[in-house]
Amino acid sequence: MKIITNLKDLQQERQSLAKTAKSVGYVATMGYLHEGHQALMRHSKAENDITVLSIFVNPLQFGAGEDFETYPRDMERDQQIAEQEGIDIVFMPDASAMYPGDSTIKLQVTDRVDVLCGKSRPGHFDGVVTVLAKLFHLIQPDRAYFGLKDAQQVAVVQALVDDLNFPLEVVPVATVREADGLAKSSRNVYLSEQERQEAPVIQQALQQAKQLIANGENEAEKVIKHVKEFIISRTSGRIDYVEILSYPELKPVEDISERIIIAAAVFFEKARLIDNIVLEADGSRMDRF
Ligand code: AMP
Repeated sequence: MKIITNLKDLQQERQSLAKTAKSVGYVATMGYLHEGHQALMRHSKAENDITVLSIFVNPLQFGAGEDFETYPRDMERDQQIAEQEGIDIVFMPDASAMYPGDSTIKLQVTDRVDVLCGKSRPGHFDGVVTVLAKLFHLIQPDRAYFGLKDAQQVAVVQALVDDLNFPLEVVPVATVREADGLAKSSRNVYLSEQERQEAPVIQQALQQAKQLIANGENEAEKVIKHVKEFIISRTSGRIDYVEILSYPELKPVEDISERIIIAAAVFFEKARLIDNIVLEADGSRMDRF
């Protein structure tokens, strides 16, 4: 496994891979790796000759007062996990390598961001697409793997690839969960013991929504109300949002009759947790675009 921190070294490495015409899969992370990240790595390993993993806590995608400084980091453990997973190249630049000076060009996401996390984290997705545009140029992957846990991110990255013609396939990967249903997340370490007990309620509430829809409820408003009440009555968390939108367009839905996302974000004392389910019109789960 090669560990690269320098952008020039990464570009050179990529050029030499091009000579042997190997397919490259790419997994972008902010580190503190867990089984969700490992699922992405395994998909990439199965479908490509070479897998590149990046570990970079991107300052551009954190807003003022968010957890950039305290975001959990453990580079040594991350490298061990990457090695175990058979990753070929780990790219872990520091912020000054990625952003050596003030930028002259800014990328701005103009659709799919006035809802969900885009609404509660203004500028977040601008930071995400900016770093990914750079990383896609550097790594030139054939396929890039993103978790559906961050389903809005998948939708925005697909738009980035379509709008700016990156020659790569975005591959969405199903959310990996703890045994009790809580979506795995680097931020789960922020939860108190009691909050950890309560947190699976988010997924339970989304499953209830799925059941309601399967039983014939098609009014989004009613389903949202049920999900909110379910979460409020069973956790100490504060709801940031519960929304039902078309997917991946992320447009408002009144009557459920197409592929939708039901997404929730809940603030706990030190962590804001997100989860979602994407349902096909017949209530089944979406696997791939
Ligand atoms: P992060 O390090 O949180 O930026 O996540 C890096 C990638 O891993 C993103 O594509 C996430 O959607 C994905 N990811 C994070 N948690 C999970 C999970 N529980 N299941 C599947 N993918 C995940």
